[in-house]
Order: sequence, then C-alpha cells, then structure tokens
Amino acid sequence: MTFDEAALCESLKRNVSKSGYVKPTPVQKHGIPIISAGRDLMACAQTGSGKTAAFLLPILQQLMADGAAASCFSEMQEPDAIIVAPTRELINQIYLEARKFAYGTCVRPVVVYGGVSTGHQIRDLSRGCNVLCGTPGRLLDMIGRGKHPYEPCKVRYLVLDEADRMLDMGFEPDMRRLVGSPGMPSKENRQTLMFSATFPEDIQRLAADFLKTDYLFLA
Ligand code: AMP
Repeated sequence: MTFDEAALCESLKRNVSKSGYVKPTPVQKHGIPIISAGRDLMACAQTGSGKTAAFLLPILQQLMADGAAASCFSEMQEPDAIIVAPTRELINQIYLEARKFAYGTCVRPVVVYGGVSTGHQIRDLSRGCNVLCGTPGRLLDMIGRGKHPYEPCKVRYLVLDEADRMLDMGFEPDMRRLVGSPGMPSKENRQTLMFSATFPEDIQRLAADFLKTDYLFLA
C-alpha cells in the first residue's frame, strides 16, 4: 500500500505530504488497510515506527467520510475516538500529529492529561471534540464531570497506545475502569486498536479482554 492507495481524502493527502511522508512505514503499510477494513488490531510496534499515523490516518479518514465531523463544533459533540497513552509527552505528540493531519478539516482533536489543573481542559472539551487524546487517569476523571466535559457513549474507535508501558506504570486499573465505564460501547460496538512494543502474557490478557475475538495481530 502507498499513501495514494490508502484512499485518503484530499485534505488528508495534502497534510500527509506536507508532513514530508512519502513512503508508508511497515506498520502503516500493513496497519492502515486492516484498520480501514474495520478490524480490531493488536500491533507490536516501537516508538519511531510510525504507529501514530498508522492509527490516526484511517480513523480521521473514516470520520470525514462519515460526515461525523460535520457537527464537531457543536458543544454537544461527544468524542468519536478516544486515544489513550501513558504519559503527557506521548499523548501530546499524538495530539499534535492529529492536529497536523486534521488541519483544514472540521475534525477537532482535544488533549487532556494529569499534573495540571482541569479548568482549561474542561473548557476545551466543552467546545466539542471528536478525537479525544488523554492519559488514563485524566480521561477517567473527565467523564461526565462538571458541566458536560464528555460522555464516551459515541466512541467508535478506542486506541490504547504503548499498552506495555501503561501496565509498567500501574495504569491497568485505570485502563480497565475507562474501558468499562458506563456509556462506553462494548467491544462488539466499537473498533479497538492496541499498540505495544512487546506482547507478554499480561498484554495478551488485555488484548483478549478489550479486543474482539477475531482481532488481527501485526508484528
Ligand atoms: P511514531 O512512531 O508514530 O512516533 O513516529 C515517529 C516519527 O516518524 C515521527 O516524527 C513521525 O512524524 C515520523 N513518520 C511517521 N511516518 C512517517 C513516514 N511515512 N515517512 C516519514 N516520516 C514518518
């Protein structure tokens, strides 16, 4: 698969080429068609492999194709996609990448993370958002909080990035609470993508719990 064959809309194509991406990396080449086909995916991929674009591009493409983004500036827009990563640095990188690819479209990414006050993030979320990027604890904290930060009821895409690091950092209970939170669609009713550098038993268990039984594995 080339980026041309990925059937991206014009604005996404333009933003990909403005980023200087000419040739897809292996995880993009193999991952984008799987995600575009609607399958759940467990991918073993390291930082630096290009995994961020591998999940962002097909998700953004689908959101635009569905017109889900058309009402993204409505205050009532609940996230269509939730992307979870273990650290503020990582989730910020993902958010910046999402903004870069969504530039000139009406997809609105928002980022939330712990260690800072919630006020600004609540205001940002209250303006509506379709791609919500966050660290596990802060994402949990924001569900249904105050004057409508967000509800996970519309989530169609759930991405758990660096799942092995999330476990190493002790985030398993938060991840499980988030994925099982009231209103979050069941795994049959959402598309779930997990990325991890390694695939030990505890990650295999998470994959079995969070992904559909027919998920695809990419290494
Ligand atoms: P990631 O593994 O997603 O953190 O990406 C690592 C770095 O590679 C980031 O700086 C990306 O902007 C860059 N990158 C991702 N995909 C490509 C590509 N197809 N061509 C060139 N650079 C890329």
